[in-house]
Amino acid sequence: MKMRKILVLLLAGLLIFGLLTGCAGPKDAGKIVMGTNADFPPFEFRNEQNEVDGFDVDIAKAIAEALGKELVIEDMAFDGLIAALKTKKIDMVVAGMTITEERSEEVNFSDPPYYDAGQTVVVKADNQEIKGVEDLDGKLIAVQLGTTGDFEAHDLFPAEKIRQFNQVNEAFLELGNNRVDAIIIDIPVADRYIELKGGFKTVGGKFTEEFFGIAIHKDNKELLEQVNKVMKELRESGKYDELLLKWFN
Ligand code: GLN
Repeated sequence: MKMRKILVLLLAGLLIFGLLTGCAGPKDAGKIVMGTNADFPPFEFRNEQNEVDGFDVDIAKAIAEALGKELVIEDMAFDGLIAALKTKKIDMVVAGMTITEERSEEVNFSDPPYYDAGQTVVVKADNQEIKGVEDLDGKLIAVQLGTTGDFEAHDLFPAEKIRQFNQVNEAFLELGNNRVDAIIIDIPVADRYIELKGGFKTVGGKFTEEFFGIAIHKDNKELLEQVNKVMKELRESGKYDELLLKWFN
């Protein structure tokens, strides 16, 4: 009788704990949650089946597989990713995220970086006037909110000349409709968008040097080590090169 009482109390306690923490149940230990913004092809985008797909997703899948966990993808505004990581709604950010000093104060990044990129300028294909970032004085510029493109634009130009959008496709819509003169955005994504949509071009090549990392909570040293190890294995096995070839032609 006494034993049963203890058992019931124990189970009730566990249940309440589970409810209060909103997770922490054993079922979640089998999952790893990736946060991303699925409007950044070829790193992450919605495919024809409306699933989140891309280079980053394949990398995250390889990480999940190596850890024996199921990958869960949370698609959210880019600007909210670090907060989601800090509040532990997600386990890692895999989102073409540039490693910056400011972000490194808040989160840890996988090391070494997994992709080299940089910002470029996109204009309409028939624009003869803007040939690079140096021609953007006095022009209206679209950026994605909270990105390094946004930060660069604000470093170089007055805020009233900058239009911030949550999604990359909104910035392209604005440019397509002549409501802005240019977009500042990561070069591999600019190239892919232009390929998909047509009617735009990049000018001046890349004007910043940036490196992408997987962001992980500062407390979660274990996951950081695991991710670094898996990334090393992916490079050594040739799988990483395979994925580069698959997603970047
Ligand atoms: N690389 C840019 C950044 O980290 C943009 C990333 C993105 O829009 N997904 O700010």
